[in-house]
Amino acid sequence: MAPPQELVGYFLVGTPLSRNSLRARSFLKPLAALTTTELSTWIQQAKTQALQGRVPERIPRLAQANPNWFAVHICCESGTSYSQGDTSCVFPLMSAIKPFSLLYLLEHLGAKTVLQWVGVKPSDAAFNSLEQLMADGGRPRNPMINSGAITLADKLPGKNPGDRTQLFCQWLNQLAGCDLSLDEVMLASVRSTRSKANQAIAHYLTQTQHLKNLETALDTYEQICCLSGQVEDLALLGKLLACESGCLNPQNRRIVNAVMLTCGLYEASAEFAVRIGLPMKSGVGGGLLAIVPNQGAIACYSPALDSVGNPVVGLSFVEALSQELQLSIFA
Ligand code: GLN
Repeated sequence: MAPPQELVGYFLVGTPLSRNSLRARSFLKPLAALTTTELSTWIQQAKTQALQGRVPERIPRLAQANPNWFAVHICCESGTSYSQGDTSCVFPLMSAIKPFSLLYLLEHLGAKTVLQWVGVKPSDAAFNSLEQLMADGGRPRNPMINSGAITLADKLPGKNPGDRTQLFCQWLNQLAGCDLSLDEVMLASVRSTRSKANQAIAHYLTQTQHLKNLETALDTYEQICCLSGQVEDLALLGKLLACESGCLNPQNRRIVNAVMLTCGLYEASAEFAVRIGLPMKSGVGGGLLAIVPNQGAIACYSPALDSVGNPVVGLSFVEALSQELQLSIFA
């Protein structure tokens, strides 16, 4: 039962109760009971971690990012949102797009078909590991690593890579109310230093009959990785996975969230399932998305990455938020 409005306000601002008892009595879900003071404190603490990471050098355009940039946007189920930091920065989603290409295909083709193409098993190898793919005989372990995402890029609907990317981007923008667009400068930079690991993966996928068209698959993969937006756009995308909206099949949302929890941070996924306890996805562009089921989504942008390829400041911030607000899905 919803509390009277004046009661909510009273408990939020009017009493010296400790935060936890205040939250328990405020009737608000933990994420929506966050205060902007808490947010600022946890951001400041997390930002001290930036020195532990490095901005990736492989893609020249990404290498220009400032390791000290940080932005967060949180969208709550209730419609409340929080935004702090360098929120006007536009960044490419890179691997943070992977949960959404999975979702898109699940919605269009169904789980039975999609899960014939990719597995749902975690991998303890790097996100672009050819060895893992070879050990598995060419069947991608999961859609959160490059082999799986390249395989799914091969199956996206549309005549050619540009058309596929546009259709996918329109679908996301319409459904999430976000404003993603293709960053052509970033795409040119990605193409100018095309990843050898991704090429080797695509060749092996072709040899083992997992790809219909190698060039289409790789080009589509590179294009969807360059879909770009602000941290708010990433949070709005996350809200699709966090909250029931009537637009998506709940079973598909459950699949994507489960795969994010177990595979979204690559070989560090299990460690962060224990430390944070939320479905998450990172991208080499510095984006990090955390899903708080039935409460909302947390999106961060912090370009410095750890050795696994996950954004250090974003992870440190989400860990503080999850522990302080007790957001873990494991109660
Ligand atoms: N385009 C990037 C790559 O394949 C995306 C990988 C990532 O974000 N981890 O190298």
